[in-house]
Amino acid sequence: MAAQAANVVPIGGKTRSPFTTEDRAEARRAKTRQGKVAKQLSDVPAHQVACRIRHRWPMDEDLAPGLPLPQGVEVIRHADGPNMLRETCKRCDKQRWQDLLPGDIYDINAPYGYNDPTRNSPKGEWVTIDPESHITRRDLRAYAFNRAIR
Ligand SMILES: [Zn+2]
Repeated sequence: MAAQAANVVPIGGKTRSPFTTEDRAEARRAKTRQGKVAKQLSDVPAHQVACRIRHRWPMDEDLAPGLPLPQGVEVIRHADGPNMLRETCKRCDKQRWQDLLPGDIYDINAPYGYNDPTRNSPKGEWVTIDPESHITRRDLRAYAFNRAIR
């Protein structure tokens, strides 16, 4: 992006735009791209858009050595299989789980997975986005920002 407003230089009584032709073309391309993104996200609740940018996992936000497990993190005990660590996103109720090794040892390489919120979730069912839309996290951030300021 080109200069800021402070760099506007008046020439012959006229104010010259600090933006180049390329800047304006880039803005048009971004607007077109964001229009397509907005169409794809029309059925996705705002909080799920925020979570697609970044979930609020208790393990990422509140885990600290020596303190109790953060709220929203639980160990699920299985009689016939590995115990499991499961945490629930504070914002959307999506769950992330990971198997624990024998002796309840946590290892970053253990199998893991996700459970989407169902229609019974208090925060609503997880809305899927067509994977063919190829919407990136950066697209989502731009969409959320532009919706927030306009
Ligand atoms: Zn979430």
